[in-house]
Amino acid sequence: MIRTRFAPSPTGYLHIGGVRTALFSWLYAKKLGGEFILRIEDTDLERSTQESVNAILEGMSWLGLDYDQGPFYQTHRFERYKEVIDLLFEKGLAYYCYATPEELDEMREAQKAAGEKPRYDGRYRNFNGEAPEGIKPVIRFKNPEEGEVVINDQVKGKVVIANKELDDLIIARSDGTPTYNLTVVVDDWDMGVTHVIRGDDHLNNTPRQINLYEAIGAEVPKFSHIPMVLGEDGSRLSKRHGAVSVLQYKEQGFLPEALLNYLVRLGWSYGDQEIFTIDQMIEFFDLDSVNSSPSTFNTEKLTWINEQHIKMAKPEHLSRHLAPFVTELGCDLNNGPDLADVADLLRDRAKTFIEMANSATYFYQDFEEFEAGAAKKHLRPVAEEPLQLLFNKLQSLDNWQSETIHEAIQAAAEELELGMGKVGMPLRVAITGGGQSPAIDATAQLIGQKRCLERIKMALAFIEKRKEG
Ligand code: GLU
Repeated sequence: MIRTRFAPSPTGYLHIGGVRTALFSWLYAKKLGGEFILRIEDTDLERSTQESVNAILEGMSWLGLDYDQGPFYQTHRFERYKEVIDLLFEKGLAYYCYATPEELDEMREAQKAAGEKPRYDGRYRNFNGEAPEGIKPVIRFKNPEEGEVVINDQVKGKVVIANKELDDLIIARSDGTPTYNLTVVVDDWDMGVTHVIRGDDHLNNTPRQINLYEAIGAEVPKFSHIPMVLGEDGSRLSKRHGAVSVLQYKEQGFLPEALLNYLVRLGWSYGDQEIFTIDQMIEFFDLDSVNSSPSTFNTEKLTWINEQHIKMAKPEHLSRHLAPFVTELGCDLNNGPDLADVADLLRDRAKTFIEMANSATYFYQDFEEFEAGAAKKHLRPVAEEPLQLLFNKLQSLDNWQSETIHEAIQAAAEELELGMGKVGMPLRVAITGGGQSPAIDATAQLIGQKRCLERIKMALAFIEKRKEG
């Protein structure tokens, strides 16, 4: 059974670069009928926070990246790590290292001065003497001294590292807590992970981890190291390039599937197709076609993809995501039409839910004033007659549908021998408060007859006042 995992450290927000590797892992498992695991790597007690764990869980849930197992927490597994460290001691593959930080600094300085690469020189590897007083030792792994490690990376290709390049890795700190390279190997082994898909910032850890797998007698999983996401200036994507936290995209009114669509295309392609449904991503995704060089994050393209998904989505789906934004603007969703119908009407003109929500308010809230510019232009004395006539016609409609409303507008225009715009625009400003809205007949239908009539009355009063002034 194929098993992949996402293993974030809860030390900040859920970064979209991290989510891209989560997505690739998730897609790979889904595609091959395998399982996807979520594991919270929280052994760094100082930097891990509950807030960050919550952000990870909320982000994954918003994105719909569901997991078959987990979330597992590494802090719940200290006993198990200790067992494996004991196993390594038994096999003679672990040892205490008493080197002090000062000693290690000196060692590095000397190596640098001699033009060598700084690395731990193995000074306690075969130490049999008396433990120095007052020093809490770290535990190191005896990395093989000879031979080489071969990684057949599914994205990077074959990578070979000589064991001479690797020093003896710390597997437990002096306070006894295990380090990342150990815990990740123990977990991936215990959890039956077959494919490790992660950022290529971990590529230099992989040979050390492979040596550890071999030392404990575990099967080595397949690795795929995914290139980083860069900002437009070519440096690694970070806060100064804009939003990097997944939940910020939620707050900015993006659809989760649009963000996923954008992220899947970042470094992966399928012909020249840009827009993918989740099912298509699962069907077409393949690690072999993941690009081995970094990709650049581009908010404009993400926004364009969001627009396309907004156009495609089911009205109920849009409404579910739109609702909090409209409520946030102070609208009571019970005081107006079904939000799914509103979203369906507004979808062609909105790039995000923030935009859509701003256009949705007049369906739920009455306004006290018309937008100044639109009113100046369209609620002029010449508009009085068409508005009055429309009022009469709309008032007598007993079937309030966009078709009948359309007919009423047309009839009014014909009767007064005016173009549709001369009737439609004053009506638009009257019932929406501004000069921009979707088709006026459909808009009026959703606003409702009673509200439309009240608002036309308000517009007539506005014109009356203007005539006096
Ligand atoms: N916890 C590591 C990180 O957040 C990921 C480890 C891994 O995927 O192997 O960078």
